Amino acid sequence: MTKWVLKCTVCGEERIFEAGFNLSLFGGKLYLYCRKCKANREHLILGCADETEGCPVAGVDVID
Ligand SMILES: [Zn+2]
Repeated sequence: MTKWVLKCTVCGEERIFEAGFNLSLFGGKLYLYCRKCKANREHLILGCADETEGCPVAGVDVID
């Protein structure tokens, strides 16, 4: 599991989301339930928050 920092594009609420897959493959956006909006909202993927296990890299975008 990798921790990701997501931000609701509607209310600006930031949250940590744990995923077993690489969210960077979603192009920076993901629809998830926002507890503040109480609805499914578009979230920006701000980045990976996992400093202990390390973050997966985004395949084709990575040079070297
Ligand atoms: Zn929200």
